[in-house]
Amino acid sequence: MSDLLSLQDKVAVVTGGSRGIGRAVALELARRGAKVVVNYNKSPEAAQAVVSEIQSWGGQAAAFQADVSDAAAAQNLIKCAIDTFGDLHILVNNAGITRDMVIMMMSEQDWDTVQDTNLKSTFNCSKAAVKHMLRKRYGRIISIASVAGQMGNPGQTNYSASKAGQIGFTKALAREVAARNITVNAVAPGFVDTEILASMPPETLEAALKLVPLARKGKPEEIAYAVAFLASDQAAYITGQTLGVDGGMAMM
Ligand code: NAP
Repeated sequence: MSDLLSLQDKVAVVTGGSRGIGRAVALELARRGAKVVVNYNKSPEAAQAVVSEIQSWGGQAAAFQADVSDAAAAQNLIKCAIDTFGDLHILVNNAGITRDMVIMMMSEQDWDTVQDTNLKSTFNCSKAAVKHMLRKRYGRIISIASVAGQMGNPGQTNYSASKAGQIGFTKALAREVAARNITVNAVAPGFVDTEILASMPPETLEAALKLVPLARKGKPEEIAYAVAFLASDQAAYITGQTLGVDGGMAMM
């Protein structure tokens, strides 16, 4: 069997790996042989279910609670991953939330919570991971951004800014660490069928789907395949990029 796109013996941390896209990413990385740390914040049972599924096929995984918007908790998550599996090769910054509201009604707290959870978490986890990856001269950092960060969505100034921030962060860090064989990329999903869409009014979602050339929502696994590719050795010459997995919504 070809070992193309294999992640055998790699260690990965997936933030927000308990549900939705993060869950699909954790499962896909594990299917390709990676040992996976499934981070969660408030869903211990869901995270444990992902771990149990991986273990049921003979894979290795562990669940760790950490609110990755908190710098100390993020550092501890990366430390726990290295202590548990002896190394760290892949970091997927996936944890994210929405708090949608038109700007006139958006609270300062909803602005701050979204920046902290989506963008500051990316800084927190990447900083801790890079410290280890620089020494090892190997790393793959992949952040889950969004078409909202590329095109902007009305009612999502906070979310769109956090996702555009992740894209800028990706480019800057990619340049900073390239010499040490660490690649840094983003994946920008369009509308993907997870619980995060539940907060969207159905008529808004229906109108939004009219903007998708492939005329449907994405599946979490379709994001996971792109992440697994960027995490692989075959993607060694790709860095600083944002890969759209959005049914053709944002053709940049
Ligand atoms: P989801 O189903 O709501 O899952 C969100 C995940 O993030 C959960 O596992 C949750 O863990 C975790 N999380 C939230 N806050 C956290 C924190 N402070 N610390 C650690 N984990 C935290 O959302 P999703 O749709 O899978 O979204 C995943 C990522 O994709 C997000 O960054 C989102 O912005 C991005 N994205 C999604 C879509 C879409 O249409 N679904 C489109 C573009 C981009 P707990 O449940 O354990 O708290």
